[in-house]
Amino acid sequence: MTNPKPSSRQPKRQAKPSVEIAVISDIHSNLQALDAVAAECKRRTINRYFCLGDIVGYGANPRECLKLIRSLRCPTVRGNHDHYVAFGEVDEDVSFLARRGLEYSAMSLTRQGKQWLRELPEVLLVDDATIVHASLFHPGEWHYIMSPSDALASMDEQTTPLCFHGHTHVTRIFALPGSPAPERMSDRKFRFSKRGHYLINPGSVGQPREADPRAHFAIYNPSEFTVEFVRLDYDKAAAGKAIIEAGLPEFLAERLMEGR
Ligand code: ZN
Repeated sequence: MTNPKPSSRQPKRQAKPSVEIAVISDIHSNLQALDAVAAECKRRTINRYFCLGDIVGYGANPRECLKLIRSLRCPTVRGNHDHYVAFGEVDEDVSFLARRGLEYSAMSLTRQGKQWLRELPEVLLVDDATIVHASLFHPGEWHYIMSPSDALASMDEQTTPLCFHGHTHVTRIFALPGSPAPERMSDRKFRFSKRGHYLINPGSVGQPREADPRAHFAIYNPSEFTVEFVRLDYDKAAAGKAIIEAGLPEFLAERLMEGR
């Protein structure tokens, strides 16, 4: 890979990495939502990210979303939709709607884009945290963590106090039994104990399924060991319009309006 030539002879000053890290997951080709999250992070002077995967699938702008994520140069793990598009293989139980989105993403991405997705790891350890798309047990089998017992199976494999995961598109905190309860600092902000084990889902940026259509993400502060859950309005109508114009199923636009 070559870097573009700087426009002047002065070396470009790198922004100092922020302490806080935006944890984003399940973008699903929703550029309007991803743009809104990036703008909010900029406003809060956050320039570090963890990406928990499912950049593509469902929505109208897989190529643009991938470009934006790649430009962040952040730790990123591969989601099931990324995997299907990258390797051109789709599980039999994938729904018709998901399949249409995947075909569209596969058509839209460049060969290099797919190659980049293929090379993503399934699990990463960074800043006292683990990141994975679905679960730490058999991460490539894309298990849904819905219940405390599902969470326990994942936390059995967890070596760091915190693990961030996505896949269900639902914001949640699970704690390993015996872990100190997270301290509630405000309505949406929690402080965790380094003596415990917690599994945290920041919700979905581009296709929230919690009857709240805003873009969902989290802000992790590794020095204070806090996580804040953020919900952000964005231009849903434009995202829906782009889906219809791309010839994707209308329901994919409708669900964005309702967050389901
Ligand atoms: Zn997803």
